[in-house]
Amino acid sequence: MLNIKYELVENKKEKPDWNKLGFGKYFTDHMFIMDYNEGMGWHDARVVPYQNLSLDPACMVFHYAQEMFEGLKAYRTPDGSIQLFRPDKNIERMNNTNERLCIPKIDPSDALDAIKAIVAVEKDWVPTAEGTSLYIRPFIIATDVMLGVHPSKSYKFMIILSPVGAYYAEGIKPVKIFIEREYVRAVKGGTGFAKVGGNYACSLIGQEKAEKMGYAQVLWLDGIEHKYIDEVGAMNVFFVIDGTIVTPALDEGNILPGVTRNSCIAMLNKLGYKVEERKLAVEEVIAAYKEGKLDEAFGTGTAAVISPIGFLDDGNIKMTINNGEIGPVAEKLYNTLTGIQWGREKDDFGWTVKVV
Ligand SMILES: *Cc1c(COP(=O)(O)O)cnc(C)c1O
Repeated sequence: MLNIKYELVENKKEKPDWNKLGFGKYFTDHMFIMDYNEGMGWHDARVVPYQNLSLDPACMVFHYAQEMFEGLKAYRTPDGSIQLFRPDKNIERMNNTNERLCIPKIDPSDALDAIKAIVAVEKDWVPTAEGTSLYIRPFIIATDVMLGVHPSKSYKFMIILSPVGAYYAEGIKPVKIFIEREYVRAVKGGTGFAKVGGNYACSLIGQEKAEKMGYAQVLWLDGIEHKYIDEVGAMNVFFVIDGTIVTPALDEGNILPGVTRNSCIAMLNKLGYKVEERKLAVEEVIAAYKEGKLDEAFGTGTAAVISPIGFLDDGNIKMTINNGEIGPVAEKLYNTLTGIQWGREKDDFGWTVKVV
C-alpha cells in the first residue's frame, strides 16, 4: 500500500449544478501530489487542498516540455457506489509514456492506490446526473531548475479531478471532419503513442484551421507519406467498410493506444464482428465511399466514448456517411460500453474497479 498523508480542507467548495458541468471547468477540493528526486525515488505521497503551485520559472517543464498526462473517469453506479474503468490500462500507458520521455516510472500499484485514494476523498464530487462522471487527470512535470537540455532529476506527479457533464446532452450528434493533408500530428519514431502535452500543442493549428472552416476536428494522416489514416482529433478512429470494421494498427508507434479503442475491439470480437487492425489509406476510404461501401465512421476516446463521423471533407470530395446519422455499430458500442462504465450492465470482461 502506498503510504499517503492527508491534509484535508475545512471549508469545502459549493458543488456546481450537475446538469451544467461542461468539460474540465470545475475542480474538486483536493489534489494528490507525489515528488521524485534522484536517489530517493518517488516519495511524499499526499492528498492536499487543491491549490496553486509555486515553481521556479527555470523549471524544465516550461522550456522543454518534459510533461505527460493521462485521462480516465470515475462513474457513479445505480447503487450509489463509484467505479473506475480499466485504470490498469491507463497506468500501463502512463509508464510507456514515461519511458519515452525519460521520466521515472511509477510502481503500477502505487499509481492505482493514488487514484483510488483521491477519488475516495472526493467521492461526493462524482456527479449523479445521467451521463456525468468525475474526470481524473494524472500528470507529471519535470521540476529541475536548469536550462540545459537533459532529462530532469526531479518531478512532480499530481492528480486533479473535474466533474464533467454528459458529452451528448442532446443525444449523439455525428460530427463534421476535415481531412488534414498539410499538418501532421505524429511520425514513426516520434511520440504519437505517448500521451504528452507536446503532441497537443502541435495539433492545435490543425484543429483551429478546421474549426474556422466549420468542422469539429481533423482526420490526421501519417507523417511520412500523408497517405494512411492515423487518428481523428484526439480520438482513435474506426471505419466500417462493406461490413468489416477497420481501425489503424498501432505497430508504427504514431497512434495513441486508446483504452476505448482496445475495449471496442474486444467487444466487437466478442459480438462476432469482423475487425481488422491494419494500415488504412485514406484513398481506400474514398474508394469505398464511391462504391457505396462506406457504412460508418466514428472516433473513440474516454471523453465522448464514441463520436460518429457524419461528414468527411477532402476538399473536392465531400462524403456524407450513413445519412449523417449514427450507425448501428457505433450505437451498439456506445450502449454496451457506457452500460458497463456506469454499472448498468454486467461487466463480463472484469474491466471495472470499485473505489467505494
Ligand atoms: C487520449 C487519447 C486518445 C483516446 O484514448 P482513450 O484511452 O480511449 O481515452 C486517442 N488519441 C489521442 C491522441 C489521445 O491523446
